[in-house]
Amino acid sequence: MRNQAICFCPSGPPTIPPRFTCPKMIRRYNDFNAYLRNRFGCRVQKITVDAGFTCPNRDGTLSGTGCLFCNGKGSGSGAARLGRSIEEQIRSAKPRLAKRYKAKKFIAYFQSFTNTHAPVEVLKPRYNQALRDPEVVGLAIGTRPDCVDREKLELIGSFTATHMVWIEYGLQSASDRTLRRINRGHTVQDFVQAVRLTQGRHILICAHVILGLPGETTADIVRTARLLADLRVEAVKIHNLYVEKDAPLAEPYRSGQFTLPSRDRYADWVSCFLEHLHPETIIQRLTGDPDPESLVGPSWSLEKSKTLTKIHRCLEDRQTYQGRRYPSRYLLENFREGVESTSS
Ligand code: SF4
Repeated sequence: MRNQAICFCPSGPPTIPPRFTCPKMIRRYNDFNAYLRNRFGCRVQKITVDAGFTCPNRDGTLSGTGCLFCNGKGSGSGAARLGRSIEEQIRSAKPRLAKRYKAKKFIAYFQSFTNTHAPVEVLKPRYNQALRDPEVVGLAIGTRPDCVDREKLELIGSFTATHMVWIEYGLQSASDRTLRRINRGHTVQDFVQAVRLTQGRHILICAHVILGLPGETTADIVRTARLLADLRVEAVKIHNLYVEKDAPLAEPYRSGQFTLPSRDRYADWVSCFLEHLHPETIIQRLTGDPDPESLVGPSWSLEKSKTLTKIHRCLEDRQTYQGRRYPSRYLLENFREGVESTSS
């Protein structure tokens, strides 16, 4: 028999809802792959693209240091530096992904650095190059919330007539104190404004969040989930904080200035986060993907499937699921706010 998971959530353990009692219901959250399969009728896989952009938090526009967790590669493959065109990156990845995942269609994922950090005249041909392949059915653009404007969003929105289009905004935390601490160079309000500016253009929004940032508590994590639930972003990507050797956090971590959560603690945080999200939000990922060669810690972040199993068991043991704490708390709080605003 498994050990019962410890509940770190301030509001205590919930009860199982009737809609999750079906024995066929394996996952207790909206899984991205299932969503894509429903939409396209086959396995759809992302192909990561390095389009040669930089980042304003690295190139001196905002700072030269970068976010404290960033390893300097900006989650990139370095393919652009090696002179590999966008088309070539897509062409060479397709057979590998088709073999490994039986994928039949693909999403071009502009992942490296900040993929809207250029004028529209530069952005347009790069996005177009990725969409020339008829098996590429979607475009996903990773960027910072302070790097979009109407003109760029109009360009990105223009692809929605023919493709599934995602924009992925790095938020990391809904606490400005945390964002300052990790040198993000933008505020929570920047994120809210970017989401508002994007909505209504048929562009799907994914928010990127890191759990376990230095100084963050369960209350911070709940606040982040609640903000995303309120904003009704279409998807989230969650991963644990891990430290790589070239990241500015490496030294403070080695010298014991902060600690990283255990796998158990992370699984509990993810469960808590999912409970407070909107029930319809799509979960694009629940774990990180560090480079084994440069990982400083925690070592468990290399064992992706063990971490996913732990999260699934944690949800099961707590008999909980995505959105479990969404409706009543929110309605109650909206009601309270209404009472306060009308009585003042
Ligand atoms: S915004 Fe992204 S690429 Fe830029 S410093 Fe932060 S993590 Fe690195």
